[in-house]
Amino acid sequence: MTVTVALPPTHKACILAHADAALPEECCGLLIGHRETDGIIHITDVIESDNLSEGDKSKTFEIDPALLLRIQRESRDTPERIVGYYHSHPDGSARPSATDRAGVWEEGQVWLIVGIDKSNRTQTCAAFLTITKDGEFDFVPVFIEAP
Ligand SMILES: [Zn+2]
Repeated sequence: MTVTVALPPTHKACILAHADAALPEECCGLLIGHRETDGIIHITDVIESDNLSEGDKSKTFEIDPALLLRIQRESRDTPERIVGYYHSHPDGSARPSATDRAGVWEEGQVWLIVGIDKSNRTQTCAAFLTITKDGEFDFVPVFIEAP
């Protein structure tokens, strides 16, 4: 069964704008939402993070851990949760890189990736769900729909 992520166009536009503004570096941020009984993961908010990677920020990202903690705390009394993360590939495809694969720390999270063609700044968007397979984290593609 393919998991579906419902991403409102306004939130998608925010992510794409962040990816463009962050060039030539990777952008990153949080996907806030909830899973409904139909299994669809509804994104209800996106929150930008600074890219705190200490490596080459055009190839790596690190979400601000203080932001992560704050949002986890704030969402405790609401039905909304951090359902995943987004980041961009300033000169690459919207596919998880080897670095992304090594960087997964939790299963059941949505990873939304914006791939950018450097020559013309064309953006493509794809989403994946983190799973555990043979004791290792892996990604499976998920379907993005506009609710
Ligand atoms: Zn990546």
